Amino acid sequence: MKDFILAIDQGTTSTRSIVLDRSYRNCGAGQQEFTQHFPRSGWVEHEPEDLWTTTVETARAAMQAAGVSADQIAAIGITNQRETALVWDRRTGKAIHKAIVWQDRRTAEHCARLRSDGNAELVAERSGLLIDPYFSATKIAWLLDNVPGAREAAEAGHLAFGTVDSWLVYKLTGGRRHVIDVTNASRTMLCNIGSADWDDDLLKLFGVPRSMLPEILSNIDAFGETEPDLFGGAIAIRGVAGDQQAAVIGQACFTPGMMKSTYGTGCFALLNTGADRVASQNRLLTTIAYRLDGEIHYALEGSIFIAGAAVQWLRDGLKMIGKASETSELAAKADPGQRVYLVPAFTGMGAPWWDAEARGAMFGITRNTGPAEFARAALESVCFQTHDLLGAMRKDWPGQADTLLRVDGGMAANDWTMQRLADILGVAVDRSSSTEVTALGAAWLAGHGAGLWPDQQGFAAEWQRERQFAPSMDETERGELLAGWGSAVHCTLGFGK
Ligand code: ADP
Repeated sequence: MKDFILAIDQGTTSTRSIVLDRSYRNCGAGQQEFTQHFPRSGWVEHEPEDLWTTTVETARAAMQAAGVSADQIAAIGITNQRETALVWDRRTGKAIHKAIVWQDRRTAEHCARLRSDGNAELVAERSGLLIDPYFSATKIAWLLDNVPGAREAAEAGHLAFGTVDSWLVYKLTGGRRHVIDVTNASRTMLCNIGSADWDDDLLKLFGVPRSMLPEILSNIDAFGETEPDLFGGAIAIRGVAGDQQAAVIGQACFTPGMMKSTYGTGCFALLNTGADRVASQNRLLTTIAYRLDGEIHYALEGSIFIAGAAVQWLRDGLKMIGKASETSELAAKADPGQRVYLVPAFTGMGAPWWDAEARGAMFGITRNTGPAEFARAALESVCFQTHDLLGAMRKDWPGQADTLLRVDGGMAANDWTMQRLADILGVAVDRSSSTEVTALGAAWLAGHGAGLWPDQQGFAAEWQRERQFAPSMDETERGELLAGWGSAVHCTLGFGK
């Protein structure tokens, strides 16, 4: 009986594979970290072979831990770090260069030029994105212009581009399939998110030949079958989604107005806007949340650069705590009479402020301020930033006040923060019972595709909350806290100007 699903989560620092049974239970997992390459300041690369070998090895480890063979696995689901760009030669199946990772800033100048040449509107209208090195398009252009002979080989049809999902499917199928899922495609800056197809004007703008591009598939689709000798039998790949979109799916945020926020090192918030393709006036991104049954659902996406990283700073930089989890108890002990704010603009401020040059600041420190107030300020900063993000989303998409927020990620385990988040947002915060929401999203896509699990509504009905945090702060206090935060941000952004 094919009673199991294999979920592969290819992330920025590690690759994880999990075998789930029909009850969505984790039956066995494998995880491997791999080397980060930083050839120059601001450059970040991954070795394509590392992404591939860690995928195969962790998948085998998960199968072994679960005691499951290939013929018991109904399907594979894949989720992955988004935007990271790979180019390989179809003749050899080998990558022509290391993968350029989403964090890589080497194409900043190229992007600035494209912006000053007046292309921002076209790019936003077609792709929903802001011209930025973050997305794949200028990374591909860089590879074509900097790897000797690449552009000629591409024009002759020998080269293939892919995001990490494309690369893994290509390798898993023994080079038979060159495909990408619609959510990963929507992060390349080459995809028209209205039609979910490659856009000729964008291809021309970024100088990417169409022949390099993979076929765009829905999130549940026939992605291909694995080479039989990899896992001891062929397994169908039935579901793929980029990591943040997989979290939207794993959180069952299928109804317009539902939002998920993943609190890891940074925070990614996606608000499902359904069939509404909302053009942001507040520098949020418009992106494809998923395409199931032929219908595209859109999301507004915003990110906070520093979330759990503020806790890491308390631990590793200031050495005020030994473990991240200590902050919950510490913050609860903070003096309510002291209003201390941390604006963690360690690497600039993201949406909706967008100031890359801003740097962090603390306000309201007195002689009585100690580690407890620092901890509270760090945790609260994540809540305030989420408040600003949600405010921008509401401005962009008015009339959708009944937001429901589902949270996941390492920092979502912090009870104090989640309660504060509910208080500051004035919105109930639901924490999923699953600690692997992203992998669960990929697994559900594959499992539904393979007929093992119910459709969206059925899956949404099965979604379980571990705990709900209901807002309980009175409006006056909330107003005062938010006014203090607003002032702190204002001063931070004004510093040195
Ligand atoms: P990533 O996927 O970005 O590596 P994770 O989802 O694993 O992130 O979460 C790790 C981050 O969450 C770290 O920045 C860590 O400081 C923070 N974190 C983990 N546990 C807690 C906790 N109990 N309280 C506050 N922050 C936490």
